[in-house]
Amino acid sequence: MVDLKSQYIKIQKEIDTAMQQVVLSSSFINGPEVIAFSAHLENYLGVANVIPCANGTDALQIALMALGLEKGDEIICPDFTFVATAEVAELLGLKTVLVDVDPDTFMLTAEGIEKAITSKTKAIVPVHLFGQCAPMESILSLAKTHNLFVIEDTAQAIGSVYTFSDGRKEKAGTMGSLGTTSFFPSKNLGCFGDGGAVFTNNDALSEKCKAIVNHGMGDQYFYECIGINSRLDSIQAAVLKVKLKYLDSYNKSRLEAANYYDKVFSSCKELSIPVRSENSTHVFHQYTLKLSADVNREALVTYMLGRGIPVKIYYPKPLHSFSVYKHCVTIEKDFLITNELCSSVISLPMHTELEVETLQYITSSLLDYLKNLYNPTTLN
Ligand SMILES: *Cc1c(COP(=O)(O)O)cnc(C)c1O
Repeated sequence: MVDLKSQYIKIQKEIDTAMQQVVLSSSFINGPEVIAFSAHLENYLGVANVIPCANGTDALQIALMALGLEKGDEIICPDFTFVATAEVAELLGLKTVLVDVDPDTFMLTAEGIEKAITSKTKAIVPVHLFGQCAPMESILSLAKTHNLFVIEDTAQAIGSVYTFSDGRKEKAGTMGSLGTTSFFPSKNLGCFGDGGAVFTNNDALSEKCKAIVNHGMGDQYFYECIGINSRLDSIQAAVLKVKLKYLDSYNKSRLEAANYYDKVFSSCKELSIPVRSENSTHVFHQYTLKLSADVNREALVTYMLGRGIPVKIYYPKPLHSFSVYKHCVTIEKDFLITNELCSSVISLPMHTELEVETLQYITSSLLDYLKNLYNPTTLN
């Protein structure tokens, strides 16, 4: 699905030097590279504070902890997503409320959220899924009306830009009370291990997050709150500082690959190409197609894998369907959209190193399959 080695080879000297410098400095934890990377990322995102941490799941946990919520407070998050949000809310004794998503963008909508708001609701966690921003203008306005926090899960959309109706442009993760991201290797900005960060324009929340990531410490050995130990290593920060310079060009390569896929597949009646939101750019963390009901997804996956083409299902099962998250269902009777998506989506290889020949091979293989759909015996 990704080609991290080829991406590395292109900037090997620069990366190796940066890593070597950290080793020679022996400043492995909270070294100058961590501070420098955070400053560069603040500048890139146009946000006042970046608080680095150990991974994207911790980032969500730290963000929720910073809000000073009480047990039983409700957090609204999408049913169609990676599990991290629901998981950390539950760990903190908060109540996750799952909400169905939009059939085109696969993300939360203000209308869907509004139905789930109760007197206990304290925060909304929109996930900028697959690389584009959730409808932030309507979500922020709803949050304002009901006095709710907004935490943007930006793990899949770093660098994506949202345009408000007045023309104002903001980067993903900088519009809500807090934003969170992951630097997992396969994310659009990935390091060579685990990493993550919290973003915020609110200085008080930033101070809170900085204490939480470091055992709740203010001055050394003076504890202000219950915290955790969640750090970004200096070596990871050094890698990220180099790769951040290339993030826009990486996102452009992904967009070009997506444009290629779109062009080939747009006339295919068995496939729905990704719907691009009017208000957001798309950084294509994933290129996800919807298959029509007459395509047997399992058979297609087997066929593609047989041709040496990795394909994946993000996500095969809705969160509400797992027994451990069953109690997160409140108002929703049936998650019609998420159920349908989980049985019809398929994601194709998407990364920064997709050459035209590779794209040709992937698309022609898929087209071959569809051409022979009603006559599978002719397939080799
Ligand atoms: C990857 C991801 C996370 C978790 O990030 P980790 O660094 O793996 O902990 C959270 N939310 C979403 C939407 C993700 O894609």
